[in-house]
This record gives sequence, structure tokens and C-alpha cells, in this order.
Amino acid sequence: MANLEIFRKTLGSMGVNCYILVNHDTDECIVFDPGDELGTLTEIFSDPAFNLKAIFLTHGHFDHIGAVNGLKEKFGVPVYASRIEDEKILSNPSINLSSMFGFPVTVHADELLEDGQELEIIGAKIKCILTPGHTSGGMCFYIPEMESLIAGDTLFCESVGRTDFPTGSGAEIERSIREKLYVLPDNTKVFPGHMDTTTIEWEKKHNYACPA
Ligand SMILES: [Zn+2]
Repeated sequence: MANLEIFRKTLGSMGVNCYILVNHDTDECIVFDPGDELGTLTEIFSDPAFNLKAIFLTHGHFDHIGAVNGLKEKFGVPVYASRIEDEKILSNPSINLSSMFGFPVTVHADELLEDGQELEIIGAKIKCILTPGHTSGGMCFYIPEMESLIAGDTLFCESVGRTDFPTGSGAEIERSIREKLYVLPDNTKVFPGHMDTTTIEWEKKHNYACPA
């Protein structure tokens, strides 16, 4: 089994949780949602113990993608995101809300992911779970050997992501969470895009916005 660890770095004025998955055997890592603070992230990935191999995006909202283009340029790594998110949200500054905040940005994904796809990278297996609702192409990433889920803005500790942005849907986010996340093992650790870490078991009991 690979010697894997997840680090959290909370970035920017929106307090986005960026996660770094490291394989300590190889000193390789991947980053999820590098939303802001390119300088801070560049410093981390310049450390030989954090050799960046890829960028993964849970969804395309501006607060999750702010440092993507800079990291791509600096480290020459590919961006992984769901095909739907790439088409509809990453490529559109009004839908990804960056225009509204005065810094229009678009991101191009190099690897387009589908629901249920499994991939192996830096010695870790990752399962892609499409969870429409917060955005139509939002994706969670499940790492079975760590019993861990990178959840983006789909599932929060005792709450769920907003569904009033373009392509959002309240009915869909509930269906995604019940049918695709609450079926994961109870002890799965959930790493959300904002606020505290939680578990699937805790959310099934205490999530007021999406009861099991
Ligand atoms: Zn979002």
C-alpha cells in the first residue's frame, strides 16, 4: 500500500479548501482545487517532497480555480476535470462566476473525466463520482485505500452546496448525495471545499439539508 497523506490548505478570501494528496514513497503529489494564492502554492510545490504531477478540479467556480493557470504554466502539469464541467463552466467566465467578481478567468482541462471512471496516478487509485447539483458537472473524488472523499462544494459538514448559481439544482444535489455519496462506507472521511472535515456516517445522521 502506498504511503499516502492528504494536506489541507485554506486559500483566498472565499476560504476555499485546497487539498494536496502526497505519496511519501515517491514524493509526488496532486492538488485538488488550487483556488488562489499562486505564490503560496508555488512555494509548496517547489519543495522536492511535493513534486506536483497534476491538478484536479471538483468544479469550475472561480474560487476553486484561481491558481490553476499559473500552476500549469509553472509546473507544466495537466488539469483533470469532468467533461461536463469543462464544457459548461470552466470555459465560461459568467457561469464560473469570475466575471461577477471582476476577474474573468477561463480554464482548459487536459483530461476530461466521466462518471465512474477510475484512474491511477502517483500510485493512488481515484474513483470519479459525478455529483450534479451545485454545478451540473461537479465531481467528487474517492480514494478507496484512504477511505477518503474530496467532496468539492457538493457535501459540507452538516450542510450542502448552494444550488442557486447557474446550472445548479436542489433536487439534483440531494439525489447525488443520497445515491452516490451516502452509499460510501460510513467511516469515509469527507474533505469539503469549504469549512470542516466530516464523515459519511456523521452526515447521514446530522445533515439537516440532506437527511439520509
Ligand atoms: Zn462552488
